Amino acid sequence: MNNNLYMQFYPHFERQPDKVLIDTPSGKQYRYKDVIATSRKIASHLLALGIEPGDRVVVQVDKSPEMLMLYLASLQVGAVYLPLNTAYTESEVRYFLQDAEPKLYICRPEEMTLATQQAAICGVQHIESLGTRADGSLMEKLGDVEETTWVCELGPDDLAAILYTSGTTGRSKGAMLTHANLASNCLALSEAWHYSENDHLLHALPIFHTHGLFVACNVTLVNGASMTFLPKLDVDELIDRMPKATVLMGVPTFYTRLLQSPRLTRDAVANMRLFISGSAPLLAETHEAFEARTGHAILERYGMTESNMNTSNPYIGKRRPGTVGIPLPGVEVRITDRETGCTIPQGETGMVELKGPNVFKGYWRMPEKTASEFRDDGFFITGDLGCIDELGYLNIVGRDKDLVISGGYNVYPKEIEQLIDDLPGVAESAVIGVQHTDLGEGVVAVVVPKEQNCSITASEIQEALKDQLARYKQPKRVFFTQALPRNVMGKVQKNQLRDTYADTFQ
Ligand code: ATP
Ligand code: MG
Repeated sequence: MNNNLYMQFYPHFERQPDKVLIDTPSGKQYRYKDVIATSRKIASHLLALGIEPGDRVVVQVDKSPEMLMLYLASLQVGAVYLPLNTAYTESEVRYFLQDAEPKLYICRPEEMTLATQQAAICGVQHIESLGTRADGSLMEKLGDVEETTWVCELGPDDLAAILYTSGTTGRSKGAMLTHANLASNCLALSEAWHYSENDHLLHALPIFHTHGLFVACNVTLVNGASMTFLPKLDVDELIDRMPKATVLMGVPTFYTRLLQSPRLTRDAVANMRLFISGSAPLLAETHEAFEARTGHAILERYGMTESNMNTSNPYIGKRRPGTVGIPLPGVEVRITDRETGCTIPQGETGMVELKGPNVFKGYWRMPEKTASEFRDDGFFITGDLGCIDELGYLNIVGRDKDLVISGGYNVYPKEIEQLIDDLPGVAESAVIGVQHTDLGEGVVAVVVPKEQNCSITASEIQEALKDQLARYKQPKRVFFTQALPRNVMGKVQKNQLRDTYADTFQ
């Protein structure tokens, strides 16, 4: 049996060549037969360049259907696909090229000169470009190329991709994902979300990240479904397209932005069957407001680069705001004491650990880091803190690295953030620990008011929390800001906040 993930998608290309796989805002459509023809040509070109199984193909280009075809081609020939965040700067890209040692680097057409210099410094043999209008050197070279139908024969443990983590807690790490990791996860998600070939996904996420690539695209491909590819979040475009779509996958910002539009109504979503959120915590308030407006309970799920998706709220059954649901089929989740590693009683907060066919092989060229993140019995230590409630739903309370230890006591930021967010006049908040001479760390709250000229004051917030929180959890200082720093996946960058407020108690 060939364990190449490509073989999970392939039957749909045979079965329904004329079906449209990708719609685009320009009206250009890509049928299943178009996608496979181009990806087979790209595969031929990769082989002609001498790409062999296991060779890394680094890609830093803007989202386009052709980028997805490049991904398929990379799977087909057994290469290791390595997409990079488009926001990475020259020096960051150089780090990734040096770390990954790819045989081929594919950049945006306008960056060809710079990329050629980078490639030379980093010893990368081949360089191509790919643009968003089916342009660039890669596409230009496909004219006379013959399609190859050869598919590399692979085992379940062979690498399909290396995906760098988002770098929220430090330098990004390359997560090595196998064909079996990716295949098992898209099948588990299909089952959990009742996905079928009749689904049409609104795809407005980037495709260099696990959410937009492995969740959104793999689930579409493994079901023979279809999707509309949008370059980025555009609320009006999403609402315009909802009558012909069935599913939206978004980060929480998608939902807060949709709620700002008066065009989001029950009628607008009449054809939609499922709204999914992940990559960052969805506020319970957003969940409730969305349900009140549209009648749809957003389905929140939890995952990470290292493991794809781990848990999901149920398709049938209660989707509980503020929780990330129950383990996906085949995935085990346990909560352990963050210091001793022993499993702790249900209901208590500790480290979230995972085991299952979705869990990665390890960090690229970081054997020590890999060893330290796995327990002897094979569980992966996620770095997220959480608890499992009486119904078996997982509640993520934050990252271990964001835990505040004040005067020797553990302070879980989410508990305080939720209370602050509930105060009138507050849109959202982030609680961080900042160096404090007496306490080790002092609790600091950074608050975004609902309206710009909102009158809520720091002392009113501190006063409101007095009766609700033990003294050591109460913010020593409260700051106001217009918006929390977020990355493209909607993750709050607490590192940045800690830097900004580092001198608070000095
Ligand atoms: P790095 O590991 O480099 O610090 P990162 O953890 O942000 O970066 P990703 O793998 O993109 O990189 O993100 C996974 C993390 O995102 C999870 O560990 C978790 O903290 C967070 N996350 C994902 N989904 C959810 C969710 N539904 N609720 C809360 N947190 C979530
Ligand atoms: Mg992480």
